[in-house]
Amino acid sequence: MSKSYMIIEEAKDKDLDDMWVCDYCGTEEVDEKAWVNMNTGMITEPDDYTNYWCNCCNDEVSPISYFEFKEKIAEECGGNKEKYHQILDGSRM
Ligand SMILES: [Zn+2]
Repeated sequence: MSKSYMIIEEAKDKDLDDMWVCDYCGTEEVDEKAWVNMNTGMITEPDDYTNYWCNCCNDEVSPISYFEFKEKIAEECGGNKEKYHQILDGSRM
């Protein structure tokens, strides 16, 4: 792992762990449906029956936190570090 890569990873750890990401590809480009005030454009509340959408997969997904995503991928890769880092780098996006 190169040094610059490690710095990026460290920065990610600080900012991203609490962010929602796609449970398959890991992008933060995930949307949920919400009610939006027609006059202000502000979100009033999330839709109770929302489906979540990944703009990379172009499909409905079940977003999880980035922290959970890393755990999930680690489990999926079963110790294959190269595969793990490829997926975290966005090989599925
Ligand atoms: Zn996705």
